[in-house]
Amino acid sequence: MTRQHRGQRQGQEKVRATCSQILVFLMYRNGIGHIGIALGGQEPSAERSIRNWWKALPPNKKELFKESARKNKWKILLGVSSLGVVFVMFYFTHLEETPITGRARLLVFGKEHFRELSQMEYDMWMEQFKSQMLPETDARYQVVERVVGHLSESNKDIPQVAALQWVIHVVDEPGVNAFVLPNGQVFVFTGLLDAVSDIHQLSFILGHEIAHAVLEHAAEKASLVHFLDFLSLIFLTMIWAICPRDSLAVVGQWIQSKLQEFMFDRPYSRTLEAEADKVGLQFAAKACVDVRASSVFWQQMELAETIQGQPKLPEWLSTHPSHENRAEHLDRLIPEALKIRESCNCPSLSGPDPRLIFRLNMQHLLELSKGREAPNSTKQDPSKPKLDFPHAQKVEDMPVTFAVKPTN
Ligand SMILES: [Zn+2]
Repeated sequence: MTRQHRGQRQGQEKVRATCSQILVFLMYRNGIGHIGIALGGQEPSAERSIRNWWKALPPNKKELFKESARKNKWKILLGVSSLGVVFVMFYFTHLEETPITGRARLLVFGKEHFRELSQMEYDMWMEQFKSQMLPETDARYQVVERVVGHLSESNKDIPQVAALQWVIHVVDEPGVNAFVLPNGQVFVFTGLLDAVSDIHQLSFILGHEIAHAVLEHAAEKASLVHFLDFLSLIFLTMIWAICPRDSLAVVGQWIQSKLQEFMFDRPYSRTLEAEADKVGLQFAAKACVDVRASSVFWQQMELAETIQGQPKLPEWLSTHPSHENRAEHLDRLIPEALKIRESCNCPSLSGPDPRLIFRLNMQHLLELSKGREAPNSTKQDPSKPKLDFPHAQKVEDMPVTFAVKPTN
């Protein structure tokens, strides 16, 4: 072996050693990654880690790495393809049935592991809101306590509802928001209490949040993010093995991340929202809530945003269904929920349909604003009836356990 050869061999070994270091690093990053998700932080992506590593590599090492990749192209492709097969098998062996709805989904976290993460998330929120917590003697706290108590009591036939201890925290915050952590810790902002018209709307919203916790949506979402992260790593390595050019890898990564986001992540989040709406409505129906109020809440939110002139995103760009679609979806579910309500021997709903009252109010409001609007008036008319809903908090600031009110 010549000296040159030995030098090359040593260089390749160094590259190999660096590769295994990266793998360990990636595993480690992904190990702690889900804490990032649970805390509502930015998910550290494997591609980003690789990109940073690649950027930091000295040019001669890059060249060696590319050379070695070119030589072993077929081996890499074979290795990566087998890894792909392993992942597909992993996917199908980790499918679980969602409680209540029976939908098949991927769940890679142990329940115990996820509970620990929930505890960390809980500590973080408690620290953040510690000076804003309403005391148990506050009337608003007691309303929430009553609603959650009633919901959990009426649904204790569901093992997941009975298993958790639901603890209330009412936070003095203007955002229209509520969330329930997977360990049963319920957080409600006073902004939500101001935005709802009655206890029926509040019961439905909290039913929806409890449904997210019962259906383990947070664990499901975290599982999916990790699974997709690894799949995309395999995909990108394949592209790179076929054509080891930096530019192609960057473009491939960008296309792949956008495809994943718009074809998968966002529609998936909306599916989970729709499922929580359905199950939340069932919870509310069993608690004898006037379930017809559920769609009115989202119509009110829609109206409030229109009045505030907030720009609307098309639904496919959003992680949540639009308020309008949400209200329509609920309207379709209400007849079934009313039947459930009836079967639970609830007192009959004698009053007028809240949806009808809302429609009549809307008509009245429109006529009023038309009548008062001068021909040259600008869009800001102080005499216009104004719904004063506070601005919602950004979804990025919310935990993975789902915000009531999306803005992105
Ligand atoms: Zn939700």
